[in-house]
Amino acid sequence: MGRIIAVASGKGGTGKTTMIANLSMALGLLGKKVCAVDADLTMANLTLHFGLEDTTKTIHDVLMGEIDIKQAIHTTRYEFVYLIPGAFDWEHVAKADPRDLPEVIPKIKDEFDYVLLDCPAGLQMDAMSAMLSGEEVLLITNPEIASISDTMKVGIILKKAGKNVLGFIFNRYEPHKNGISPEIAEEIMEFPLLGIIPEDPKVREAALSGMPVLVYDPDTKASRAIIETARNLIKTE
Ligand code: ADP
Ligand code: MG
Repeated sequence: MGRIIAVASGKGGTGKTTMIANLSMALGLLGKKVCAVDADLTMANLTLHFGLEDTTKTIHDVLMGEIDIKQAIHTTRYEFVYLIPGAFDWEHVAKADPRDLPEVIPKIKDEFDYVLLDCPAGLQMDAMSAMLSGEEVLLITNPEIASISDTMKVGIILKKAGKNVLGFIFNRYEPHKNGISPEIAEEIMEFPLLGIIPEDPKVREAALSGMPVLVYDPDTKASRAIIETARNLIKTE
């Protein structure tokens, strides 16, 4: 049976989409069959991280009732890694109802070891629908107090809704700066710390080149941290 994990945060820009692309890649390298799903319906951009061009069948088409979700599964350049892209155009965005996500997403559970859902930030209806489509939740925060506090709020609400909140990723950490340390973040969050990803310019360079940083530079510090985080995620099984 596969795991459906919603990747969530309080604020936008914490690195959810980047981490989904990279964790999918990492889990694939570790022999897991993975599907990354763009469930951020109004701001879909997961496809950019995979450098895919032919993405005519999207999650939006599924929600519009035009195709079955299995028809929207695309292969990527990477072994074991699949993608359900989102549409960019307003036509599709306006017609796809996020409230149907919890009904359609579980249909691919048995096809994969891991389904990772790229969710909108916050607690609005579109974010809630995406986050409630899986059984498990992986939180992402940056090392700022507002980011930690908002992500914690999301975690608490999803836990109350009966979801298994696995823990959080501390992304864009800069150890030499006098910011919040991962240990303090863990104390505040009250959820387990599953990974510390450093601030790394290679992450942005990779995104510009349309590939996960794990492919762009497997040896850079962020890539090594992502592999370790994927291992920790597997251990939560
Ligand atoms: P979200 O999906 O949560 O809105 P993104 O994944 O789009 O966030 O990331 C926001 C920005 O932060 C992007 O420009 C991305 O390249 C950058 N970023 C994310 N993680 C890191 C990191 N560890 N080091 C440097 N830049 C990062
Ligand atoms: Mg995003």
